[in-house]
Amino acid sequence: MSIVIRGIGASPGHACGTVRRLQMPVWRPVHRSIGASEVEREVARFEEACRRAAEHIRETRASSASALGEVAASIFEPQIMLLSDPEIVVGTVRHIRENLLSAERAFDWRLAELQAAMLDARHAMVLDRIADLRDIRWRVIAELDGAEQVQLALPREEALIAIEDLTPSIVVRFDPEVVLGIVTAAGSRTSHSALLARSLGIPAVVGAGIAGLAKIVDGCTALLDGSTGRVVLNPEGAEVAAHDNSARRPLSSRGRLSSRREDPSYGGAAPPFTADGVRVRFRANIDHPGDVASARRAGAEGIGLLRSEFLFIGQRTIPTEEEQYQAYREAFAGFPGQPVTLRTFDIGGDKRPLFLNMSPEDNPYLGWRAIRICLDMPDLFLNQIRAAVRAAVPRGSGEAGGSGGKAGESGGAAGGSGGGSGSREEPLRLLIPFVTSESEILRTKEIVAEAINDTGVARHVLLGIMVETPAIADTLDIVARHIDFVSLGTNDLVQYTLAVDRGNARVQHVADPLHPALLRSYRRVFAAAREAGLDIGVCGDMAADPVGLALLLGIGYRDFSLAPALIPEAREAVQLFSANELSRICGGLESPARISRTRRRLRAYLEETIPSDAALALAR
Ligand code: PEP
Ligand code: MG
Repeated sequence: MSIVIRGIGASPGHACGTVRRLQMPVWRPVHRSIGASEVEREVARFEEACRRAAEHIRETRASSASALGEVAASIFEPQIMLLSDPEIVVGTVRHIRENLLSAERAFDWRLAELQAAMLDARHAMVLDRIADLRDIRWRVIAELDGAEQVQLALPREEALIAIEDLTPSIVVRFDPEVVLGIVTAAGSRTSHSALLARSLGIPAVVGAGIAGLAKIVDGCTALLDGSTGRVVLNPEGAEVAAHDNSARRPLSSRGRLSSRREDPSYGGAAPPFTADGVRVRFRANIDHPGDVASARRAGAEGIGLLRSEFLFIGQRTIPTEEEQYQAYREAFAGFPGQPVTLRTFDIGGDKRPLFLNMSPEDNPYLGWRAIRICLDMPDLFLNQIRAAVRAAVPRGSGEAGGSGGKAGESGGAAGGSGGGSGSREEPLRLLIPFVTSESEILRTKEIVAEAINDTGVARHVLLGIMVETPAIADTLDIVARHIDFVSLGTNDLVQYTLAVDRGNARVQHVADPLHPALLRSYRRVFAAAREAGLDIGVCGDMAADPVGLALLLGIGYRDFSLAPALIPEAREAVQLFSANELSRICGGLESPARISRTRRRLRAYLEETIPSDAALALAR
């Protein structure tokens, strides 16, 4: 019998196969007390072990940089810093000196103390750092014991991996040809391991819980959806057949859609149109500039969402303007002549950067988050916008790196929504997350104007807002005159509309993006944006699901931004859909009678349009 486990979708894509249930090796150094005369020798051994462990991490960092890109590799930097962190080093040396413990035991004790303090914090971001502690624990103790690095018996043949938790050093060794998918009991979407899984293109579901993991028996078959966090154990034969062995490739590679793989319009070649000739655009959601290459391969027509916070979340110091400039420049350069939308820091919620030292909050998703932080910390915000303004200068059109140029010619956010016309450059598109009020937009515009003025670079800025809170969804008509574009963030809009924590696997069954309240929101937001003449797109994951995509097309949305791995599938689905037919099905979403029929009619339409395999994907 099939069993469904729900976790948090942490790396998009589908996977189907045999599950290998792995155990993290438990490795405790033997307890050894030392005599007073041995203290200095143990301290020296410990310091030498830290130095060598740091060297090895640097090697891992370098090999990850060539395989996965600079930013994914930078995940290892906090580990290098931890090895000289006084909390760890001084604490360990104290245990050696005062408790007369061997270097191994002293280090292990110190880490156990720090880990206990982190567990007390009970915050996802802090808990994620425990994986870094585990990595350095293994490294340093291996150096001290002269032992091998901890080895996890990885499968040699294609399999899904189920395990309690993962550390970055382990994930980086996964071969995506063999590891089809990952399920973990612990972890969050923002963990370093999840970030690496996304870089490797391995679908992953995290936070399935110890109880969820306990249901997974070694050798069973599972279907995993890394977008929705759904894992089906022992799926029905038909479901397995539909996913086939290439199930990691999304819907596009299966059944009727797979025939299109040979079609030149697949992937990046031709712009996608619906079956009845309506042009649709796909842009990419990326977490760092290293994802630009996969976005281009997937056929993205620009970046719809650069989640800038991921670039710096593991840093202990506030990212400098220069650091940010370099990172944004790389992203802009990846799509010359196409839009690249930079979302300003969406920190807070489950993303708590080390550089902010944020105090714990009872309800972080309702707390000090995103634009609220940026407006409370104008220097942080100004710094980011200055870096973005400078970085958005097209190559070959003058000095972008600093002074020079003349301020004041830019339009957009700084001076209204026009300006810059006649310029051959792409405007800078700044997207503000978690907006709830008009005053936040107005204050943001002042800061953007100040940043432009500071840089002395003439820049045309388009200001957009994420529509991801019910407050702004319902008042878009009121604030529309202050902005240039809108991006519908369904991930958070679902969370805030249905009062369901998007990071809590236990309540994911409540998070229904097709809830009538949301159907009405999507329709109202679209109508308000069109009425005000605003550009509107969708950057939430809902468009990765064929039902969601069909619904949004039916309402009128034409621009979507998705993780690169999900774009080919969505492009192909769009080519099978009739925009007219979907508009007929989705019409009248204000009416109680129509709204409840819409979901059923959409499913029926999809079953006809994308037979068998896709229909199975929808049957959740
Ligand atoms: C969203 O909320 O829909 C969104 C795209 O932003 P994020 O997932 O980064 O919160
Ligand atoms: Mg959001």
